[in-house]
Amino acid sequence: MNDLVVMNRAAEWRRLKALVLDSVSSPITKRVYNLGLDEFFKWYEQEPRSGFTKATVSAWRVALEARNLGSVSINVRVTAVRKLAVEAADNGLLAPELAAGITRVKGAKSKGVRHTKFYTNGILLDRAGLIEKIAPNLDELRISLPGLDRQNYLEVFKVDKAEKVTRGLLKLAEHKKKTGQPKQVTLELRSSRPLDVVMRDEGMIKLKPYIDEGILALGSFRTEFDTYGGTITGADMSGVMKIRKQEKERSAPCAALFVNPGILPDGHVRACSCWYIKTNYDKLTLESTTEKPLSEILFGDRHRAVLADWIQGDLPPPCPECSNYTPVLFSLKDMVGMAAALAHGSAGADKQVTSFAGSR
Ligand code: SF4
Repeated sequence: MNDLVVMNRAAEWRRLKALVLDSVSSPITKRVYNLGLDEFFKWYEQEPRSGFTKATVSAWRVALEARNLGSVSINVRVTAVRKLAVEAADNGLLAPELAAGITRVKGAKSKGVRHTKFYTNGILLDRAGLIEKIAPNLDELRISLPGLDRQNYLEVFKVDKAEKVTRGLLKLAEHKKKTGQPKQVTLELRSSRPLDVVMRDEGMIKLKPYIDEGILALGSFRTEFDTYGGTITGADMSGVMKIRKQEKERSAPCAALFVNPGILPDGHVRACSCWYIKTNYDKLTLESTTEKPLSEILFGDRHRAVLADWIQGDLPPPCPECSNYTPVLFSLKDMVGMAAALAHGSAGADKQVTSFAGSR
């Protein structure tokens, strides 16, 4: 069967797209597939193609990579097109062997980073063009907030920005609704007030439709605060808020050093993405991605020196007072693998990376 004859027709594309969208239940996945398939159709019709084949879909993946999309964004689009091929074959519109070829098109390699997330207080989100710039490059955006009541926000975060944050979050939610990017937006609520009270804040009421629709997710709700390397103390707490209890014994390196590197705005990599309020530039700061690829920095010489020093009892400055310390717990098999990987400078090749936004 020559797929070009049938597949060029817009009506058939639409019908097949509807079948693909019907095959998934999550509204977010539906939206992202819808967007991905529309992009694919547009790209397909931009110039003559050799048909709806494995080679064409591979070329589509290369075109996505050229847009510098993250691997997650690329793979979700490729998956949608694979499903399209299956539906086309099931409906007699594409030869099964062509569909089978398309389902074998590989996704983008993660190149060592599995998940990219960005932590922010959200204060700059209403800045013109910012969301459009960062959203395509992120898997996840996490926003820390005490709720969105003006007076309470001022009391907890010491800045009168609740309305500005609300505006930015509404803009972000609309962007995600239209584009599906970033894949996940999580609101991390830290408040001394009960959740049902927080949800009645003026700003939270405005966000509720997006939360109900699954565009914005509610993360953990806590009354405990982290110490940010000792910067925040019990004296900063109000109401029932308290500092998170800390593990005293710190002989084992922190697990965050293996799984939670971060990238500063200037491109420098930090071995841990936490607790950088006093300074971004301490022993946890490794080399810069402007000079070396991330894959060489992670578990390169500098990173391994941080781990080796920890084992000798020399902890990086934020770590002794950090409430987020979690001792690394590996099985014997993990440790043998880790030791071998460290010896070759390649451990941690498949990690999540956090970007920082520290602006108030
Ligand atoms: S102790 Fe805290 S700052 Fe140090 S590596 Fe762990 S999470 Fe990061």
